[in-house]
Amino acid sequence: MKSKGHIPVERNLSSSERTLLQWLLMHGSTDASKYMSQIDSLRIVSKCGCGCPTVDFALQSGRKVGGSDIVAEAGGKSPEGISVGVILHVRDDELSELEVYSTEGLDVPFSLPTPDSLEALPL
Ligand SMILES: [Zn+2]
Repeated sequence: MKSKGHIPVERNLSSSERTLLQWLLMHGSTDASKYMSQIDSLRIVSKCGCGCPTVDFALQSGRKVGGSDIVAEAGGKSPEGISVGVILHVRDDELSELEVYSTEGLDVPFSLPTPDSLEALPL
């Protein structure tokens, strides 16, 4: 939920974020796999402030803004048992945002979906 604003952070990907990104790129659009090589260089530069695990990425330079292309979309379940949707955004050919939302619109904190719960959605 972007309405509550994104909070600046500076950290590397967690192992669960990395695993999810790899899964999405393997199950995404036909050219999604070309972004696989960016994963090692990605940093997380901001996160959603609402308690969901949505994060924004940057490569060497700053975070890209503006319109995005969606390269992968999936549904799954968080460890808390919440049904979530995941959307992977690319901007200017760089992985840019991992958007995670409650499909039921629940306004409670939750974590990334577990890998074995994921199902790719058609783009
Ligand atoms: Zn949020």
